[in-house]
Amino acid sequence: MMIRLFAGAAIVAMLSACASVEGGPVSTASAAVPKASGYFAQASALPFHAPDFTKIKDAQLQPAIEQGIAIKRAEIEAIANNPAPATFENTLVAMQRAGQMLNRARGVFDQLAAANTNDTLDAAQAALAPKLTELDDAIYLNDKLFQRVKAVYDARAAAGMTPEDAMLLETTYADFVHAGALLDAAQKAQLMQMNSRIAALETQFSQKLTEATAAKAPVFDTREALAGLSDDEIDAAAKLAAEMGQPGKFALALVNTTQQPMLVSLTNRETRRRLFQASVNRASGGDAYDLTGTIEELADLRARKAALLGLPNYAAYAMYDRMVREPAEAIKFMRDFVPAVAATQAREKAMLEEMARADGVTALEPWDWGYYAEKVRKARYDLDENQLKPYFEVWNTLENGVFHAMEQFYGVTFKRRTDLPTYHPDMRVYTVIDKDGGELGLFYADPFARPNKQGGAWMGNFVEQSHLLGNKPVIYNSLNVPPPPAGQPALMTFDEVTTMFHEFGHAMHGFFADQQYPALSGTNTARDFVEFPSQFHENLATVPAILSHYARHYQTGAVIPADLIDKVEAAATFNQGLGFGETLEAALLDMEWHDISPSESKLNAAAFEAQALGGMALDTRMIPPRYRSPYFRHIWSNGYEAGYYSYIWTEMLAHDAWDWIETHGGVTRANGDHVRETFLGQGHTKDYEVMYRDYAGHDPRVEPMLKARGLTGVGGE
Ligand SMILES: [Zn+2]
Repeated sequence: MMIRLFAGAAIVAMLSACASVEGGPVSTASAAVPKASGYFAQASALPFHAPDFTKIKDAQLQPAIEQGIAIKRAEIEAIANNPAPATFENTLVAMQRAGQMLNRARGVFDQLAAANTNDTLDAAQAALAPKLTELDDAIYLNDKLFQRVKAVYDARAAAGMTPEDAMLLETTYADFVHAGALLDAAQKAQLMQMNSRIAALETQFSQKLTEATAAKAPVFDTREALAGLSDDEIDAAAKLAAEMGQPGKFALALVNTTQQPMLVSLTNRETRRRLFQASVNRASGGDAYDLTGTIEELADLRARKAALLGLPNYAAYAMYDRMVREPAEAIKFMRDFVPAVAATQAREKAMLEEMARADGVTALEPWDWGYYAEKVRKARYDLDENQLKPYFEVWNTLENGVFHAMEQFYGVTFKRRTDLPTYHPDMRVYTVIDKDGGELGLFYADPFARPNKQGGAWMGNFVEQSHLLGNKPVIYNSLNVPPPPAGQPALMTFDEVTTMFHEFGHAMHGFFADQQYPALSGTNTARDFVEFPSQFHENLATVPAILSHYARHYQTGAVIPADLIDKVEAAATFNQGLGFGETLEAALLDMEWHDISPSESKLNAAAFEAQALGGMALDTRMIPPRYRSPYFRHIWSNGYEAGYYSYIWTEMLAHDAWDWIETHGGVTRANGDHVRETFLGQGHTKDYEVMYRDYAGHDPRVEPMLKARGLTGVGGE
């Protein structure tokens, strides 16, 4: 399992249960389980079964994963064909033991391909993707296997199971039903046809959107048009225009969101207008890059797929395993923010208009928002990021900030070790030691950016915790801090400090895992839950007693001045009408697209979107959604359909949970134990809402988030 953070918000990718103790083939008539060979055939001999990077060769990874897939397929077949009557042990538990070689190889491969890739690994990734999808089909569309799971499920009332066993049965059964296991043969054939068309459209959408975003970079004739940009940015624009076949001109590359970072500094208003309009119209211009037809067909197919599975709409289908299970609940949650956000948008617009009038601008337009917001921000907050960085050296922040916070809160300590190999020399490895002195697992820190490393930040497991398989967690955090010049310290922005605490929150979710089954262990939780613990841990970065322990000038050792942190926190609540508003609008738009019934689904995308935005009671003209429908990659090809609300939901949980800490004595060992006991150590052994109530004593509330976001006019229905 790997959890990725993209541009200030995070997503979950890949479900894999890492394991490393041989469960042995299931003893049945199917004798065809291939014999494992090579490095990944056995668990690593290093402590905690840590990967031995001195022995792992890139060229061996693809064959090892292919062999791991073949073995897992045979193991699954053996479970499905077992002549003995189905039991929890010989079916559900056997499935948890299956695929250990695959898990070992993927635990290494997924991280190398993300954090230290090359042509060999890139090619392997492309070749393996369809094979891993086929493996999923071989499990979830295997009717014999499902009949065994169903037999155990139907007899569950009499079985007297532990809560964790009951949860494993319930989630496994739900996964099969979600994949269509209850359909008859004709319906299954129809479903597979739909799935194949949906997959093709999703891939087509993703590729064409990448092309559209590149092709729609607006081109300008003169250098003067780009006034306000740096010389480096203008040089890059000249280079891009030449690459686009227009030498001597200047092209501004589009980024994926509606707002373009350069809108903040471009002084020429006509240039801003052209850049903004190129962004919002990139995939709806009626030309070869127009994706409106693709999303109309996708929305229609998804609505019909949900109907085939007996559900009222696709949102209900997609949310089957979430903390928020009902689309109506997610929609109500978001609509409750609308009055506060609308009031903030109006208030901030008035501030921006006042600033713009000084420039002779009488009517503010959407392309002016970022530009004047930046002017207001500078005037009000006077914050220079470069004043902060000398206080945030990377290793000091990790060892005296993050680790210190974990010791204060949980009693956990860290011991650096140099005896274990890493995949890159810039990494450090630590043993994580529990409050009672026992060893919890291994932590690998990989903080620096490299050309062959994906952007963003993420956490993952080389080895996942499981009592069944006898494994303790081996966990890594990857960040993208710019590497320092030779001989200089590596200094971070405050955003990067927050990200380091965030990713370590995921890591603690993994280290406190105390589960029997890998599928329910640690961070293997729902999309709208998994980012809650990580965002919760961000709060530790600015607790005064923790901050003063680590935020020290790398040259003088002086503690960071309090007024600098005050400025950071004050500036964070400014421009939320755009910052939070565009996210809320995108999340509402996502639900509109996935709340339709098949009878409504023959629709016109432009008209549908216009109606949806018009009904939001937000200033969607001045502040459009973060993504408009034809370039909303999260929901059309990245697995976030009916899921974009998760960013807001988990933030709400994190703020409310932190409010509990602040009103119950702060960062104390007792409170840390309470966090660990109620949710951080529970994996997915309980319902998410039960864990939350166990922790807070009530259902989650939005007020602490509204306060933290600086949103006024806390709203009713
Ligand atoms: Zn995250």
